[in-house]
Amino acid sequence: MNQSPARRRIPSLDRLLREPPIVALVERYGRRYVTETARAELERIRGGLAKGGEGFDGDAFTEACTRRLARESTGSLRPVFNLTGTVLHTNLGRALLPRAAVEAVVQAMTRPVNLEFDLEDAERGERDAHVEPLIAALTGAEAALVVNNNAAAVYLALNTLAARREVLVSRGELVEIGGSFRIPDIMARAGCRLVEVGTTNRTHLRDYEHAISPRTAALMKVHASNYSVQGFTAAVEEARLAALAHAHELPLIDDLGSGTLVDLGTLGLPHERTPREALAAGADVVTFSADKLLGGPQAGIAVGRRGLIERMRRNPMKRALRVDKMTLAALDAVLRLCRDPDSAKREIPTLAFLTRPAAQIAAQAGRIAPFLHRALGDAIEVAVVEVRSQIGSGSLPVDSIASHALSLTVPGKRRHALAGAIARAFRELPVPVLGRVHDGAFLLDLRCLDREDEFVAQLPQLDPRKIA
Ligand SMILES: *Cc1c(COP(=O)(O)O)cnc(C)c1O
Repeated sequence: MNQSPARRRIPSLDRLLREPPIVALVERYGRRYVTETARAELERIRGGLAKGGEGFDGDAFTEACTRRLARESTGSLRPVFNLTGTVLHTNLGRALLPRAAVEAVVQAMTRPVNLEFDLEDAERGERDAHVEPLIAALTGAEAALVVNNNAAAVYLALNTLAARREVLVSRGELVEIGGSFRIPDIMARAGCRLVEVGTTNRTHLRDYEHAISPRTAALMKVHASNYSVQGFTAAVEEARLAALAHAHELPLIDDLGSGTLVDLGTLGLPHERTPREALAAGADVVTFSADKLLGGPQAGIAVGRRGLIERMRRNPMKRALRVDKMTLAALDAVLRLCRDPDSAKREIPTLAFLTRPAAQIAAQAGRIAPFLHRALGDAIEVAVVEVRSQIGSGSLPVDSIASHALSLTVPGKRRHALAGAIARAFRELPVPVLGRVHDGAFLLDLRCLDREDEFVAQLPQLDPRKIA
């Protein structure tokens, strides 16, 4: 075998595993894992040599192994800073749980709980019973059930109440949420036939009326969560739609999307229709998410007339879509906070973020700007600018809230090209920072920045040479 001198100088795996720095790694990560990593790293070095790369270097080897082990031993799901300006960001996990909910989850995870056990009668209980009375009290509903998410709640309502029959929906409400939830598709999977009524911009009561036939099983209203139809428009008020449905002994299903249990108007935010209002207007089943404006864990809630909710509960698919004890524990804690708007606003992070005064955000931006300037140097311009935050996750798509952002730019012709480079540098921090690029500037909307010290502490790790 004709080995190059550099290749011959590579120590054996056995010898390397006896070197003190590698022994330290073995103590930390275990022998098998370190052996595999060291072998992979040696392979990489040998492969590099074949292409004319550099020879073996002990310190570089130790560092490479340490980096690999550290990277692979942290999970793939990592905390990030959400400075995108979208408070309920579906790709970043939507709502953050209040402390009370986290504590309730820890209890449910570490101790046996009476999940499906009735302590009164020592009989098998119903898991939804832990939250049903609270949801009923908060919405005025006769009954409630909880499933994995709102898509599941919509599916269960349609499949239970309208399988093999027709459901009428306005053409203006055939929404797609984030690519994978589309009303026509969920309708088909639930075994229902979608009957579109009206037009994209205008739907009248008579459109529904003309479409009702012996094959009709339900009328459905869907919240236009992430768009708005503007201009020459007409939609049918929920109360009139409910009256029409009831005159034909049909249920009205209302998919509210983001159901808030606290009247946003009382918090100084734009009003969003609540499940209570939908039910009061006559809807028979109302479905909404628990991790949008409600600010809870991922779940879907269906509320409405007892007979209909009970039929949904008896659908065998309910078992496949049910929530686990962690979700129920968290949801219960969040619902308790919702009983009092003041505690809700204070304790539920989603509502706290949404109601943060712009002046407070501006002051925070002023505090942080000098640290950014110090970390990035003179080539990158740091400014505090006025922006608008989005609520996100299909809530109030048109309304935005006044906020402040730190704007980072490299002045000059390469401004647009370099905004992306700045964004990348922030993504590569130990706790990745996600902002948004707008008009050649990298913007960090501070509305959701609650760990200011942690954010500032990692700024010195930014490498401005990688940007400009
Ligand atoms: C968000 C949304 C859904 C989907 O809810 P998930 O909880 O994400 O499953 C369904 N319908 C509407 C109108 C929505 O806004």
